[in-house]
Amino acid sequence: MNTKYIFITGGVASSLGKGIIASSLAKLLQARGLRVTIQKFDPYINIDPGTLNPYEHGECYVTEDGAETDLDLGHYERFLGVYTSQANNVTTGRIYNTVITKEREGAYLGKTVQIVPHITDEIKRRMLLLGQTGEYDVILTEIGGTIGDMESQPFVEAVRQLQWELPEEDCMSIHLTLIPYLSAAKELKTKPTQHSVQMLQQGGVKPDVIVCRTEHPLSAELKRKIALFCNVRPGHVIQSIDAWSIYQVPLNMHEEHLDELAVRKLQIDNFATPELSRWKTFLDRIKNPKYEVEVVLVGKYVELQDAYKSIQEAFVHAGAANDCKVHVRTLQSESVTPENVDELLKGADGILVAPGFGERGLEGKVHAIKYARENGIPFLGICLGMQMCVVEFARNVLGYADASSTEKDPDTTHPVICMMEEQKKTTIKGGTMRLGAYSCVLKEGSLAASLYGGLSIRERHRHRYEFNSVYLDEFEKNGMMATGRNPETGLVEIVELPSHPFFIGSQFHPEYKSTPENPHPLFKGLVAAALEYKKVMG
Ligand code: GLN
Repeated sequence: MNTKYIFITGGVASSLGKGIIASSLAKLLQARGLRVTIQKFDPYINIDPGTLNPYEHGECYVTEDGAETDLDLGHYERFLGVYTSQANNVTTGRIYNTVITKEREGAYLGKTVQIVPHITDEIKRRMLLLGQTGEYDVILTEIGGTIGDMESQPFVEAVRQLQWELPEEDCMSIHLTLIPYLSAAKELKTKPTQHSVQMLQQGGVKPDVIVCRTEHPLSAELKRKIALFCNVRPGHVIQSIDAWSIYQVPLNMHEEHLDELAVRKLQIDNFATPELSRWKTFLDRIKNPKYEVEVVLVGKYVELQDAYKSIQEAFVHAGAANDCKVHVRTLQSESVTPENVDELLKGADGILVAPGFGERGLEGKVHAIKYARENGIPFLGICLGMQMCVVEFARNVLGYADASSTEKDPDTTHPVICMMEEQKKTTIKGGTMRLGAYSCVLKEGSLAASLYGGLSIRERHRHRYEFNSVYLDEFEKNGMMATGRNPETGLVEIVELPSHPFFIGSQFHPEYKSTPENPHPLFKGLVAAALEYKKVMG
């Protein structure tokens, strides 16, 4: 069988959840026994989202191979349970960068370099790349942005050309749109969808299926109307009604026959019913939890829901594993002071101090950590959160009042967190952090070792600063232990306080590797400890 390509575009509005629909269809095809991956083409000029503030674009997701990518790749990995890579996320910036570099090298000597064909050819080349590895039966491609945006036009043109070039049965196009409900008229409106599909068809792309996001069920009549005016087969308009959990969407899409429409259009001989028993068990667990806990997430981007996407999802997975609903209360780290910390953290069964960059909100994180340490509240610090627990310990236990990270205080006399030599040499900001998966060896008998159930792990990083090992002896003598080290460089990757019921800081990001079917051990452990804490505190 040839590799099959499914393209997913979005219309009417952004944030309709193209990533979730793509992930859900991919999940269903995978559950039918097909080898599937998803890639995202984003129409912005940044080479990758690594240089974007989370307020702009939500969390930056990091893959095993160290690519800084769109947060939708997190959904792809969580739904499919397979790793993505740099090849799964391409931006306009990356496309132009390749074409312009080739132009300078003389690859197009004598020719005028243009959007069509040079940019579109490069887009097409990358759209087909993963298909050529022979590792996948189906490649789903999500086109970022909304149809009609000037930026996404070259991507739509590339899809049009591929639809023309590939055998008809190897290519499918799905358009996700919004059917707004006008409460005054008590009516669902199809006109914006009609316009969006017209625009898509003007670009030469004919959708095979229209998926309609809606708050209310669509009647058969309405579906027929959309099909007629959007020029798709009757029965190829399906509804995606607001779901109680994103993890419910694959089941909803199966009920709407989306996977069946896909295998039929792509002429895949596959009559299997998707095997989703583990997925359903997970869903049952998040639907009817026996227990509940409150975890406070202390961070500086808390106003934006998507800024800590993978952390939020990791709590859903870890909650299910503990038969527990985790209420994640977010707390703006800037607002935390020594005076109000008691008040703000009251009622917390667990505390997570989030990753981050720059100076804003750092001191608030330190106060929250001190509170967790002194009150025996289960605690997980991630990346900057780990660095700040090192700073807190240096200040309040070792007695170095001005201890800090050189990210905040370049002139501190106790730089307990500092930049590595090779980092100091880099002047370029994009893609130059310590990125992607590194090995880590755990100390026998440590909390980390018992949570992971082994001594050798691989976790993903995204940072420039590190624990300053000059201070390691002193930390360990006073009770903060390095229980995870990089086997090649000796860098400290995990710190723990054995005297505390559950206190872990990880220099890496455990949240990137948590999935419903494989909840992350550190999150699972934190939730279990929070449950225990709640029980003891009555
Ligand atoms: N700003 C810190 C560093 O670069 C932490 C980064 C993070 O939390 N991802 O080392």
